[in-house]
Amino acid sequence: MAAMVQTSATDYTDPEAPPDCPTCHTLAHRRRAARERRDLSAVSDCNVLIRKHPEHPHAPEAH
Ligand SMILES: [Zn+2]
Repeated sequence: MAAMVQTSATDYTDPEAPPDCPTCHTLAHRRRAARERRDLSAVSDCNVLIRKHPEHPHAPEAH
């Protein structure tokens, strides 16, 4: 019997914040603080914002 409480486990990958982007750097910092208080919705929000940040190409994701 599988208890599927968190259904988005497979989508739980953190995008890298480009080191030269202050916006993403702030988001990454906020993401880490959110994770420390186990606020996974805030973590997810930060990840989405980093992924969608238009001012730089997407960093290559490690598969
Ligand atoms: Zn950025």
